[in-house]
Amino acid sequence: MRLILIFLLTSSIFSSAQNNYPQDYFANPLDVSLVLSGNFGELRSNHFHSGLDIKTQQREGLKVLACADGFVSRIKVGHFGYGKALYITHPNGYTTVYGHLQKFSPEIEAYVKKQQYEKESYEIEVFPSAETLPVTKQSLVAYSGNSGGSGGPHLHFEIRDKNEHPINPMLFGIYIKDTTKPVVRSIYAYALDGNSFVNKSNSKQKLRLIPQKSGDYMVESLSAIGNIGFGIDTSDRQDLAANSNGVYNIQTFLNGNQNFEINFSSFSFDESSCINQFIDYEHYTTNRQRIQKLFKKNNPLSMFKSTINDGILSVDDNTNSVYKIRISDFKNNETWVNLNIKGTNTSASTPVVQKTTPYYMTVNHTNNLKSGKVSVDFYPDTFYEDFYIDFDVKNDTLTLHKDVVPVRKNFNISYDVSNYNDADKEKLFIARLVGYKNYPVYSFTKRDGNILSTSTKTLGTYALATDTVNPTIYGLNFKDGQWLSNFRYLKVKIDDDRSGISNYRATVNDKWILMEYDYKTKTLTYDFNDDIITDSKNNFKLIVTDNIGNSSIFESMFYRK
Ligand SMILES: [Zn+2]
Repeated sequence: MRLILIFLLTSSIFSSAQNNYPQDYFANPLDVSLVLSGNFGELRSNHFHSGLDIKTQQREGLKVLACADGFVSRIKVGHFGYGKALYITHPNGYTTVYGHLQKFSPEIEAYVKKQQYEKESYEIEVFPSAETLPVTKQSLVAYSGNSGGSGGPHLHFEIRDKNEHPINPMLFGIYIKDTTKPVVRSIYAYALDGNSFVNKSNSKQKLRLIPQKSGDYMVESLSAIGNIGFGIDTSDRQDLAANSNGVYNIQTFLNGNQNFEINFSSFSFDESSCINQFIDYEHYTTNRQRIQKLFKKNNPLSMFKSTINDGILSVDDNTNSVYKIRISDFKNNETWVNLNIKGTNTSASTPVVQKTTPYYMTVNHTNNLKSGKVSVDFYPDTFYEDFYIDFDVKNDTLTLHKDVVPVRKNFNISYDVSNYNDADKEKLFIARLVGYKNYPVYSFTKRDGNILSTSTKTLGTYALATDTVNPTIYGLNFKDGQWLSNFRYLKVKIDDDRSGISNYRATVNDKWILMEYDYKTKTLTYDFNDDIITDSKNNFKLIVTDNIGNSSIFESMFYRK
């Protein structure tokens, strides 16, 4: 029996070295050496990172190459998210994804522009057939950029399987030099119920980490009783970059037996929001530090592997336990954290009573809250755990707890606005109040007669706000009546104060022109190489509408020959 256990333990530790994914099938998507600014599974805001972020020498315009033969199966151009993104499906069933592109290769770019001019929209999503845009391995398909929700030039690269599940691209034999061990920045112990204590306290305890010469860590001994768990802030660095990335695998052992494991190898996009249950969400929203919990309490996330008692330790009086954490990166550089736990039933350990409110949320049921003109509807599985929610409505301000409890599924907030007069009603929207100044942030608001509603995953304070101000528009690189014969681009700046830009429409002499929108620089750009403009005297007209429906019209004359 003992031999079998040792074997299982060993095989589990080293399982990350082998896998069933095709090796060396996919070539490098750039013709520069791979340096990562982000890796797979890395902890991001409300999601796990689904691919590799590859550095592009701090610039745009690097050639992006097809990783293998296949065909362009999807093209999505959006203001946010991946911006300009290309999907290539390969004969082995996998799809590679290339995001935040600056533009596509000439053939693909012409195809995309044709679709955009037909639909009269910059944002498009198309699914070309296998014959439309075939590609060969290492052929040029795009140029790297910074489009969409990207904070600096890089290529976002993904590999997905037939079920659209992203797989860690490193599992396909992509080589990134990494001889550097993961580091641990901090470790915390949690008492997980009212009868459990760590160092005589029922609240989360930060433990002192003692770094060892080897790169491993000791932790000061702790006393505990009852059900406890641990959490760590850890990251990994690869040799060729200074930035911190995510680790690949975390395992924990209690007295030599593995009791928890998470492996960042693959997940499904449906479970993205589970990240907020995996991290200590309250700690994150208050301190902006991500503590990864080494117990899986009420978390359906599929990246957890074997666990015993969900990774929770049940500590008895008069016991001594050894707890070890093994953190490794993809190249199996490993860091260990070692700590001793003394089971001590201290006299100070009087059970702690949970704070209650009149509103108890139960995970498996629909929960409705209503007060005055405001109602909130939670559906089954909105939350991970049952809890007492704070709920209060004063005038139009809804206090719906604080943003400290992770939410798994959207819930609905609705306001009856029948008490407002018709003119005011049209300018109302639901806002989430953020920061100490309670700044109103637009929450996508639907209107149905007198009911305004919004669907969200964020608890906090909400209120009605108004937007009566039209968007602003001004020409960035031209003036009214100017000759623009030698201009390559026409650039316009657009902005909206409260509810934000919803849509825009630009025409020249009543013909629709494609203007690319970059929300980060608030800029619309037309490329004269689109060859839509043939007259010498041109009337440029741009209509911009905000989320409430306030519109501005900008008109300008320009000449070209
Ligand atoms: Zn990315």
